[in-house]
Amino acid sequence: MHRATRAYADLREAMRDNLPSCLGDDRFTSETAAPEPLIKICAGCPLYSQCRAMAMSSNKGPIFGVLGGLVRRPDNPSTGAGPRRVLDGIYG
Ligand code: SF4
Repeated sequence: MHRATRAYADLREAMRDNLPSCLGDDRFTSETAAPEPLIKICAGCPLYSQCRAMAMSSNKGPIFGVLGGLVRRPDNPSTGAGPRRVLDGIYG
């Protein structure tokens, strides 16, 4: 199984028993929200390891924001164009 597919399946399985700590929090997909507090939330999330593995293996998910304790940005932030990049989280 492809690494991204495996990571996504693992995350979905873990979500059966755990809610994401970011549930309903729009800052996680915001272009402008400061990432530091969000990265701290990720660090305490029960899905952290699975979510981080998915973020590192795939460009699926939000273009902007924080996923699995990692900051996401498109290659061209002014237009949102181009492949998404995953940047190291400050606490990640
Ligand atoms: S690790 Fe972060 S982005 Fe992933 S589900 Fe948890 S709170 Fe959300």
